Amino acid sequence: MDGFPVKMSEAVCLGASLTLSGICYYLYRKNRTTANKLDDAPHFTIDGKLKDILKVTPGACLQYAVIEGAVQPVAEPLTSPFQKEFVGVLQKFMLREHRLVWNGLSRTWTDSERVLHQRVNAVPFVLVGSNDTAVRVLCPLQASGVHMETTHEKFHQVNYGLGDIIGQYLSGEKLKGQLETEEMLKVGTTLTGVGELILDTDGILILRPPSNGSKYFLSITDFDTLLGEQESTAVWWKVLAITSALVGAAVILLVGRRFYQQLKVRWEREKERREFERLQAENPRARALVTGPEALQDGEEELLENACVICLTQPRNCILLDCGHVCCCHSCYQALPQRRCPICRQSISRVVPIYHV
Ligand SMILES: [Zn+2]
Ligand SMILES: [Zn+2]
Repeated sequence: MDGFPVKMSEAVCLGASLTLSGICYYLYRKNRTTANKLDDAPHFTIDGKLKDILKVTPGACLQYAVIEGAVQPVAEPLTSPFQKEFVGVLQKFMLREHRLVWNGLSRTWTDSERVLHQRVNAVPFVLVGSNDTAVRVLCPLQASGVHMETTHEKFHQVNYGLGDIIGQYLSGEKLKGQLETEEMLKVGTTLTGVGELILDTDGILILRPPSNGSKYFLSITDFDTLLGEQESTAVWWKVLAITSALVGAAVILLVGRRFYQQLKVRWEREKERREFERLQAENPRARALVTGPEALQDGEEELLENACVICLTQPRNCILLDCGHVCCCHSCYQALPQRRCPICRQSISRVVPIYHV
């Protein structure tokens, strides 16, 4: 009863929910800021006027701008080894191994994936607008957003003999096969780019990762879709942050309620003890029973006969109601873990001092 009544599970639950809520809130703020910056970024069309705009801009630099243009390679493009007609400027090969692993807890086979090999090829490219104006795109691999499409996908299934199958059941692991994929940013694709737009000393327009810490985007979707995705991600983090904060608040309420109930029991016992002492004070004979040494004067035999069934030393000095048992002293009654008569287990509604006349 002493101390603050927090169970270990509640402390863990509270800590986890508050930490989770903090992380989700941080991610929400981050996504919200990105969405706001995207929303505020000015849009420019790639044409002859863009150079003129940048010439009059301080530092010939627009810190965060949105442009849209068709992908064109600066030199020789990359060709897909799987489909000769696919040419692009970014190419990503991946070989992933798929396995079925036996899960002893859920007693099912679960799919697990592992990247065996990954290779990215890139060639310099520009975004072309009208009048053959082009913007050179730097560091495309640092950009967020979906900027490649799957151009090849093949699953190589593994065939097994009977011996292999028995071995797999014994080891709890089954190799399903390997998935081979190729993704490409194809030549001619319309790409939305959001980043720092500059005019370099050679008079070339360049789009590069922003130096002010904003997020760099290259996306094959249009700008509104890109903004919508950012906003919905922010909303999801917000919902998660609120949910986990609510869980934390519920735990605090639960612990607080229990603490209040324990305090209430303590107050009631204290009130009862005072009431008992008052009643005793009104009756000198009852006081004699409590104080002990005076009771001894009546003879030790009487005291033993009359001893409290719990401590066996103090005289019985209270009546438990409603059952009416006279079986213990008041200090033992107060120490009872539950308000139940130690003889008949009936619940105790009141306790009064006993008077001998
Ligand atoms: Zn006792
Ligand atoms: Zn009883």
